[in-house]
Amino acid sequence: MTPSAADTTCPYCGVGCGLRLDARADGVTPLSAHPSNRGRVCVKGNALHETIGLEGRLLHPEIDSERTSWETAIATVASRFTDVIAEHGPQAVAFYGSGQLLTEDYYVANKLMKGFIGSANIDTNSRLCMASAVVAHKRAFGEDIVACDYSDIEDAELVVLVGSNTAWAHPVLYQRLVAARQQHPSRRVVVIDPRDTATCQIADLHLPIAPGSDDWLFVGLLHWLEAADALDSDWCAAHCDNLDAALAVAREHGTLEQVAAATRLAPALLADFYRLFTRTEKALTLFSMGINQSTNGSDKGNAIINCHLATGRIGKPGTGPFSITGQPNAMGGREVGGLANQLAAHRDFDDPEAVAAIANYWGSTRMARAPGLKAVDLFEAVHAGDVKAVWIMATNPAVSMPDSRRVREALVRCDFVAVSDCVRNTDTTALADVLLPALAWGEKDGTVTSAERTVSRQRAFLPAPGEARPDWQIVCEVATAMGFGAAFDYPSAADIFREHARLTTLLNGDGGRALDLGALQSLSDTAYDSLPPTRWPLTADGTSQRPFADGRFYTASGRAQCVAVTPQPMPIATAGGLTLNTGRSRDQWHTMTRSARSARLLQHRDEPFVEVHPSDAKACSVQDGGLVTLRSADSHYVGRAHITDSTPPGQVFAPIHWNRQFARHATVCDLIPPATDPISGQPAFKHATVTLRPFEHTWRACIVSVRRPATPDADYWCRVPQGAVHRLELAGSGRAPSVRALRALSGFPARRNWLHYRDNHTGTLRAALLEGDQLVAIAALTRSGTLPERAHTQRLFDSPVSDSAYLALLAGVPAADQPDVGRLVCACNAVGENAIVQSICQGDATTVDGLGTELNAGTGCGSCRPELQALINTWTPITQRALP
Ligand code: SF4
Repeated sequence: MTPSAADTTCPYCGVGCGLRLDARADGVTPLSAHPSNRGRVCVKGNALHETIGLEGRLLHPEIDSERTSWETAIATVASRFTDVIAEHGPQAVAFYGSGQLLTEDYYVANKLMKGFIGSANIDTNSRLCMASAVVAHKRAFGEDIVACDYSDIEDAELVVLVGSNTAWAHPVLYQRLVAARQQHPSRRVVVIDPRDTATCQIADLHLPIAPGSDDWLFVGLLHWLEAADALDSDWCAAHCDNLDAALAVAREHGTLEQVAAATRLAPALLADFYRLFTRTEKALTLFSMGINQSTNGSDKGNAIINCHLATGRIGKPGTGPFSITGQPNAMGGREVGGLANQLAAHRDFDDPEAVAAIANYWGSTRMARAPGLKAVDLFEAVHAGDVKAVWIMATNPAVSMPDSRRVREALVRCDFVAVSDCVRNTDTTALADVLLPALAWGEKDGTVTSAERTVSRQRAFLPAPGEARPDWQIVCEVATAMGFGAAFDYPSAADIFREHARLTTLLNGDGGRALDLGALQSLSDTAYDSLPPTRWPLTADGTSQRPFADGRFYTASGRAQCVAVTPQPMPIATAGGLTLNTGRSRDQWHTMTRSARSARLLQHRDEPFVEVHPSDAKACSVQDGGLVTLRSADSHYVGRAHITDSTPPGQVFAPIHWNRQFARHATVCDLIPPATDPISGQPAFKHATVTLRPFEHTWRACIVSVRRPATPDADYWCRVPQGAVHRLELAGSGRAPSVRALRALSGFPARRNWLHYRDNHTGTLRAALLEGDQLVAIAALTRSGTLPERAHTQRLFDSPVSDSAYLALLAGVPAADQPDVGRLVCACNAVGENAIVQSICQGDATTVDGLGTELNAGTGCGSCRPELQALINTWTPITQRALP
């Protein structure tokens, strides 16, 4: 029987926080004993209990959108794959997995494709996240090993954050950094990012680097370190090869003048950073998507690693190059070979002995012998008709792949598309022939590995709903129906884990691989159930080791390898174009299938948006809060302009989350060309050229209703689920919806007794529907007037509405007894921007802690504290500002 409470692991980012969830309780408790978070949690993790529930779930198998039995669904998938393989060979089929799968799910999917179908065409959305870091690790260390762990953040004297908005993307690591700084004020933080992000609130030095020029910066740093006689020659002589070649290239390309020109940073600022790095022995460099998602992300990773190898700053507390992954189980997927160019257990196709040993271990009937198609090539092969059957597991490539419009086109053309997912309606499930209902987080059971190599248990605390099954079981049933049952006869996830752990010991008698989970290969079911967070590398008795502490690396020679990195010329936006950068928003996750279920998570940024510098906004006639269009050659994106000088001139930023389930034109990956790093195959999501224009419209409207509004036929629409109420934003050109059509969009009959306010001068209409004294729907439309303030209006649905509030609503003014607190900044304690700004301007609060005392803002998970600081910086009266 499933327990109703469990200690489990957060399903969102690669930090891998340990949380206690109790299905009966109304909250989340962060685990103080978990090494990843030590009692901390961010706003997304803190709202997890609000995201569970069966609304919108896929609960039964379907074929062609009709419910079917599991037997028929499994037989259909198996026979379609078998038929394609028989007619066109194993290269004509593919799996596309996900960093959301558990390690056990990944393991069997990889085993089926590589060991029994005989193709390596299994890739994953982790390709989009950290494939370049994998290449950098393997080239430098001989194996895909992250050099550091989270305790290094507390031990470092200097933390360099590059290509990472840690405050938003890895918030608990940011909290750990803030706490370490508070304890040791002499410690320094450098942020290298084109944008002035929330993370910059903690920076002693912010380097607003030209997009994509990080390779120049670190090649320059290597040159500076040599010139400053700061290399650790003894350590390098003992443990490192190829430094001379890397230095030679650095001398050629890395002068301060060259780097300043390429990065568009002032030489003095560069020199400040270089001096700080040079003199700080305990230096830690955290890097993330801003490095990896580039056409030369692998080289950028190695340029960073070179600086640490050259100074011997690796393998010691508080030092090292630290790749922080985005997804909860990107690392676990890498361990079992979830990428098309890996085999399993960190083994590669270029090692015939390993290929033969794994084939023998699996009892393979048809072992793949060469790498398969990486994500972008995989979907291109689907588009070309070379791959004729694809199975997509727990991910949404119709939204998240570059040039996602073409990926959708490919899936439409594909002969057979199977999708296993826990959500019924996504942009990808809409294109499936067969839907296979999978268990969701909270229901499934297995392991994940965090960005610091810690294997943690995800445990079930909810019963399996409907007919949903674990992903590993679905894969095993298809494998059995394809005739491979003997190799896929697992009674439980624990059996799969033991097989995976045993496989990591294969050919590893000399300890030549760091990934050796031999200490866990004989776990009993009970020990697996209670497995504490365990970080590899492990000794035979299960003790965690720090990688490289003994100066030994996992190359053939046992020595680390520097890579001679030639920095690449910067791509230039075409005339009249802006450089589009994409990334995450603080309170959303991936394509919003889970995070949008929490009303408070959607209140921070509730519509797709575009951040743009004031000078570009002026040049493009864009108004703050107005709708704008970003356009590439073939696609466009519509969102709200957020004018901010945190985005540099010539650049715009848009979030990756919105898609066609939530808005009409907000799939930002439609704008991203499918350019990739030639070695890692990772797409360059941080760079596209777009134009910016105001979105032409003659009317705007907004519906708030306790019923789910219908999907309108409008040029712009965006759904904003808000728990008990639903909001719909609309805009368009030409003829506006009639009063009747507007009312009908609310989900209530248009003929009910609506009350109206109409202003013909501005073309404004407001209508409200009451049931007793409870507001149930509001519809508002205007041509040149204003629409009701949304957050305030939504709060009117929370309780019976007073006459004054009701009249104020129709009149379009805030009610005196219900002040408008504005956009939600602190999601934990529901503190809005207006209240915060008022408190700052009145001098009631001049610090973040002061806002906590005054308003309770920032006293929950702490994710909003950088934004509170930014509001203080903006609104503190000049007379009250501290003198420098
Ligand atoms: Fe979850 Fe990441 Fe937040 Fe931790 S930091 S609670 S893993 S989203």
